[in-house]
Amino acid sequence: MRTGAPVSPEEAAEKGRLLFAKPCEFVLGAARLDQIPESRLPEVAFAGRSNVGKSSLVNALTGRKTLARVSNTPGRTREINFFRLDDTLMLTDLPGYGFARASKAQSEQWAGLIFEYLRGRPTLRRVILLIDSRRGLLKNDVEVMTLLDRAAVSYQLVLTKTDKLKPNELAAIAARVDAESRTHGAAHPHIIATSAVEGAGIPELRAELAALADT
Ligand code: GDP
Repeated sequence: MRTGAPVSPEEAAEKGRLLFAKPCEFVLGAARLDQIPESRLPEVAFAGRSNVGKSSLVNALTGRKTLARVSNTPGRTREINFFRLDDTLMLTDLPGYGFARASKAQSEQWAGLIFEYLRGRPTLRRVILLIDSRRGLLKNDVEVMTLLDRAAVSYQLVLTKTDKLKPNELAAIAARVDAESRTHGAAHPHIIATSAVEGAGIPELRAELAALADT
C-alpha cells in the first residue's frame, strides 16, 4: 500500500523486520523456463557468482537456517528457486555464475535461462546482485551488470562477507564498486554492505525489500 507520506528510516526498518518475520515458504525450483511459476506478487531476484554467499544471505534475511541450501559445491545449483514471503513478495534465488569449472555450454545455458526469466517477468521489481567484498567486481559481475542494463532490469549491488574485511579495506572496495556502478544505467545508486555471519546490513536490506513489496 502506498501512503505517499515519507517514511523515516526507523519506520522502514520496522516494516522490513515485520515482513521478514512472516512465513517464508519454498515454492519450487525451475530448471527450465516452462517450470517457472506464474505469479502476481512483486518479485525480487538474488544473483551472484557461485560461492558469493547468496544462500547464506537469503537465510539471514528470512531468519531461517535451511531455506536456501548453503552449497559446499560451487556451481551445483542450476535451478531458479522461488520462495514466497507472506503472500507479499516472491524471492527468487538465481543459479550462481562464474564457476571456474563451468563449461562454455553451461555458461551459455545460464545466460539463456536468466535472460528469458528476466524478459518474461513483468512482476520483477529488482535484482539484488551480490558481490564478494573481498574480491570486488570481477569480469563476470560486470558482464552480468551489462546484461541487466541491456534488459533494462533495475538492480542493486550488495556486498557480502564484510566481516572478513577491516573497515578501511571495506571502505576502499565500496568506493571502487560505487565508481563502477555509476557507469551502469540500470544500477541503483545505493550499495548495501552485509554480513550473513554477523548480521550487518540485514535490517537495511530487509527495509529496502519491504519498500519494493508495496510500491
Ligand atoms: P552461494 O554459493 O552463493 O549460495 O554461497 P554460500 O551461502 O553457500 O556461501 C559460500 C561460503 O561462504 C560458505 O562457506 C559460507 O559459510 C561462507 N559465507 C557466506 N556468507 C558469509 C559471511 O557473511 N561471512 C563469512 N565470513 N562467510 C560467509
